[in-house]
Amino acid sequence: MRIDVLTLFPEMFTGVLGSSILKKAAEKQAVSYHIEDFRRFSDNKHKAVDDYPYGGGAGMVLKPQPIFDAVDHLTQNTTTSPRVILLCPQGSRFDQKKAEELSQEEHLVFICGHYEGYDERIREYLVTDEISIGDYVLTGGELGAMVMIDAVVRLLPGVLGNDASPIYDSFSQGLLEHPHYTRPADFRGMKVPDILLSGNHAKIEEWRKQESIKRTKERRPDLWSRYQSDPLEED
Ligand code: SAM
Repeated sequence: MRIDVLTLFPEMFTGVLGSSILKKAAEKQAVSYHIEDFRRFSDNKHKAVDDYPYGGGAGMVLKPQPIFDAVDHLTQNTTTSPRVILLCPQGSRFDQKKAEELSQEEHLVFICGHYEGYDERIREYLVTDEISIGDYVLTGGELGAMVMIDAVVRLLPGVLGNDASPIYDSFSQGLLEHPHYTRPADFRGMKVPDILLSGNHAKIEEWRKQESIKRTKERRPDLWSRYQSDPLEED
């Protein structure tokens, strides 16, 4: 997978993409990251990327020209059409299903906004997706892009040590994950459930499934009712 990020703050990505699983994924060549400061595409002599809003009002608006030109530049030699994702609090809410969908793509382009927002023509004519990471407003799209990149890249084949592990994570099967325990079996009188020490793998699987259901019902009744009404989630 190729991931391009258009941002005014490329330095924000260094630590996150250069650490842990995201770093290993690039080393294994499962993904390549290209962080592009879109200010360099501005045709303005002062390299301005924003301007006052038509009609007046507070805040500055990102101009269409640098962002359109940056996307044209990134896609000029590509054979496949990338998903061009606008980070935006007004977009559809990012979730595990969207991460799985995006992990099937060969090329993702993330556009990170700043200031008051974008010129509307960027939304209308340039992007394929508008995605929000939650119902709150961030200063810029960078943290959102990093959240999405992390959630997508860990799903790419071979990126996690054990290929099977993401399918047991919370949300992948429509439920929250079951509880985990490790040694010691008795820590300050707090005991690991006997079933996990029994060696009976079928019973352990059943216990995990039941705990997963119990936890989802208690903590996320919205997920539980979706799980019950959508038979596809039960696979
Ligand atoms: N005025 C805009 C509005 O009310 O919709 C908010 C602009 S916000 C200060 C600046 C940029 O941060 C946005 O253009 C977007 O790229 C990013 N951003 C803020 N909140 C976000 C969220 N919840 N999800 C994704 N991106 C977000």
